[in-house]
Amino acid sequence: MVRGLRFKFLLLLLTVAAIALSSAIILRDLMIRDFRAFLEGQSEDKVYLVQASFEGAYERNAGWRRADLTQEVIQALGLGFETRLIDGEGNLVIDTVGALKGVSPLIKKRLDSLGLFREGAQTGPFTPYPLFLGGKQIGSLEVRELRPSKEDTFLGRSDWFLILSILLVGCIAALLSIVFSGRLTRPIEELARAASAISRGELKKRVAATRRDEVGDLARAFNTMAKNLETHESLRRKLITDVAHELRTPLGAIRGELEAMVDGLIPNDPDHLQSLYDETGRLKNLVDGIEDLNQAESSILSLKREHIAVRPFLENMVELFRTRFHQKGVELKIEGDTGQELYADPDRLSQIMVNLLSNALKATGEGGHVSILVKPVDGGLAITVRDSGSGIREEDFPFIFERFYRGPGGGLGIGLTIVKEIAEAHGARIEAESAPGAGSSFTILFPPEAVHNSS
Ligand code: ADP
Repeated sequence: MVRGLRFKFLLLLLTVAAIALSSAIILRDLMIRDFRAFLEGQSEDKVYLVQASFEGAYERNAGWRRADLTQEVIQALGLGFETRLIDGEGNLVIDTVGALKGVSPLIKKRLDSLGLFREGAQTGPFTPYPLFLGGKQIGSLEVRELRPSKEDTFLGRSDWFLILSILLVGCIAALLSIVFSGRLTRPIEELARAASAISRGELKKRVAATRRDEVGDLARAFNTMAKNLETHESLRRKLITDVAHELRTPLGAIRGELEAMVDGLIPNDPDHLQSLYDETGRLKNLVDGIEDLNQAESSILSLKREHIAVRPFLENMVELFRTRFHQKGVELKIEGDTGQELYADPDRLSQIMVNLLSNALKATGEGGHVSILVKPVDGGLAITVRDSGSGIREEDFPFIFERFYRGPGGGLGIGLTIVKEIAEAHGARIEAESAPGAGSSFTILFPPEAVHNSS
């Protein structure tokens, strides 16, 4: 957990918070230093004023008269000082405590309500300041600053603010890290769990991919990968089952004949050997067909799409089949709106056309005709191969797209399976129509995303 993303996130946020707070502390210290210097300057100015007022009273009264000094003491108190006046002989003339005893109860009450001074509450030494008149020292004024002053209260509070903000920022950083790291790590943990499930063979496992950020992209890529794996795996299993099934029959036949030869039940002559040889030829064709099928199936996962102009593409196909059709006396033509472009894998598209045209040629006798029809349908494109051949028997029709299914006189029974798989890999659909004796038609319906109009 210490190495986990959650912990790292918390550490990161706390570090950022600590840096921010340290700079706040440094800033506050600098400000307070300036503020104290300013306060000290202000305090000296005030003391100077108090001195002047006492010296003024001495001059006014031509000496120290205790009864006339109360106002000066109260004024000094108002400026934040407790005072003691000592005359030239060193005797105490008046002090704040004494002066307050002499004031009227009304003034005393007002002063108390201001909370400026409480007897015995002050600590710290008095600072003496000499008093002069006409260059001659007339006494000294001892001054003690009242604490806490409003400024001290302000400084004290700023300390509290700082402590509170440290606590607050720390809590917010912790809370944010818990919330955000949770949001960030939860989908990653889910992905990690899904990945291990897939590695255990649970190929159906998917993750939620609703987020629109990079984590969402990762989840979508993961789901696509999982889907491809699942498709691949199910194709592989089905292929192995079907291939084993298809190989078993000819292999069984070869084995049976060989056994019979070994047992002397059938002669080991050229006719029987030829029949065995033919059987191995069929096996070889089957293996080649399986190879084609395998390629078609893997194309589901790896199409190399290009923009293909339909007309030249189909003309090439016709050219490829011209001799074979000609030899059999079957007409082959292209019809419809061919000024289109398809966005498809050209090699796979050729494979579709080769398989459909081969089947059509196989089923059509001399004098028959085959046409390739191109027609836009609902924004997409339909390519139909229609023949006037034998048609498909009703009992065969539901199975013609099944792997290794073949009708009478059929080949390996994989041509249409390949066509269907390639078409579906392009997002296209395949439809077949047939009436026994009246020909067949096979249509590939390409969706709008696979079509580009070049006219
Ligand atoms: P194959 O042609 O190797 O037998 P396919 O998968 O291409 O295998 O076709 C499966 C079966 O469908 C064929 O054996 C045949 O009976 C039938 N078929 C396909 N195309 C046509 C067609 N154009 N006309 C008549 N029958 C067809």
